[in-house]
Amino acid sequence: MNADLVVVGSGLFGLTVAERAANELGLKVAIIDRRHHIGGNAYSEKEERTGIEVHRYGAHLFHTSNERVWDYVNRFTDFTNYVHKVYTRHNGEVFPMPINLGTINQFFRSAHGPAEAKALIQEQAGELAGTDPQNLNDKGIQLIGRPLYEAFIKHYTAKQWQTSPEELPASIITRLPVRYTYDNRYFNDKYEGLPVDGYTAWLERMAEQPNIEVHLNTDFFDDSHEYSKANVVGQVPVVYTGALDRYFDYAEGDLSWRTIDLEEEVLEMEDFQGCSVMNYPDADVPFTRIHEFRHFHPERDYTKDATVIMREFSRFANKGDEPYYPVNTSVDREKLLKYRDLAAGESSVLFGGRLGTYKYLDMHMAIGAALSMVDNKIAPHFTGGNKIQSGGIDA
Ligand code: FAD
Ligand code: UDP
Repeated sequence: MNADLVVVGSGLFGLTVAERAANELGLKVAIIDRRHHIGGNAYSEKEERTGIEVHRYGAHLFHTSNERVWDYVNRFTDFTNYVHKVYTRHNGEVFPMPINLGTINQFFRSAHGPAEAKALIQEQAGELAGTDPQNLNDKGIQLIGRPLYEAFIKHYTAKQWQTSPEELPASIITRLPVRYTYDNRYFNDKYEGLPVDGYTAWLERMAEQPNIEVHLNTDFFDDSHEYSKANVVGQVPVVYTGALDRYFDYAEGDLSWRTIDLEEEVLEMEDFQGCSVMNYPDADVPFTRIHEFRHFHPERDYTKDATVIMREFSRFANKGDEPYYPVNTSVDREKLLKYRDLAAGESSVLFGGRLGTYKYLDMHMAIGAALSMVDNKIAPHFTGGNKIQSGGIDA
């Protein structure tokens, strides 16, 4: 094997580690991925008939307030000035999302100013005033009151997670801002945009380096090649970004993961829904949202004869499905502690990324964590003599 470091998984975590290890530390890096392409879930490609860029694993919006991450990603791509806005269709009516003054006034058929709206929501959230909610249900009610919670969050969350909101961590819902202005930007971050030439061009540029070898269609758990777990662990340091429970052969039980099914359709019309994402928060619609990809790039000269949409369905991941989202129930969190102990004892393997740490990471968080892993673990190992003795999933 001709590598100083093996990286399992070519998502943004693995690519960032590999790029820094090759360019900053001068290491020879082998990246393996079981898929036929690099980029993990951020991968995109042109839909064949229309040429419209589709995000194969669900819509990906880049946003960050982290200056280091923003400087880093701008080495590989420019970003458009796209600003993400989402709408949600409840009981045959369309509302702006996340919850803002526009949503509140439309829902209550009112014309409240910010202070009145706040007072109204406080009154409606009164049942949980002064508490410190630990689960999504209570946190949701505390944030926006029961009527808005039941209209826009309760069923959407149940469809998306297929787990009772009482069992889900409160942190999931605090991803969404609640605003007492008419600002309906989906994200609060300082920087936001989409890669000008598409995600795949960006991701490929990260791996374009003579010291980086990429091996696709290569599964870490398939012993027929030289980069398998059996062949590399203990030989060279490994950064593993596959599923944590899979690495240990599910020794502490299965962690629960959510996967999504995306149903793509090309429609003979210029515009289907007038926006890039429409959420469907009602219980009687089986999908959670519809993505319409042309709206991510209004600056491009896409055909006016057709448009591409994807309906997103969410379900529990079985073995063999792609694990996308850690569900993170209290039972999962107990198992995770045991997996953390196992990971700490795994010689010279570092666990990273969404799957390897069982964390709900956005792209900028995965990149930030990978840069920290290079600074704190990989660089000292190769340059300072501070060897990676045991792994761990703290990055
Ligand atoms: P991944 O992208 O999952 O990459 C892991 C890679 O490891 C995969 O390519 C996989 O094939 C490979 N792998 C796994 N097991 C093995 C094995 N045994 N052998 C070899 N290779 C293996 N983030 C945002 O910032 N904005 C968004 O809008 C956004 N939307 C998202 C929507 C969806 C549906 C999903 C699932 C995620 C979304 N994210 C978004 C998160 C974003 O995809 C992740 O933060 C980012 O991809 C993390 O990258 P990663 O490298 O940790 O994981
Ligand atoms: N959510 C909801 N209704 C919506 C949008 C989001 O209930 O219309 C909840 C849901 O529980 C979701 C969480 O808010 O998991 C975070 O939403 P986000 O859009 O950040 O989820 P993503 O799909 O990007 O992971």
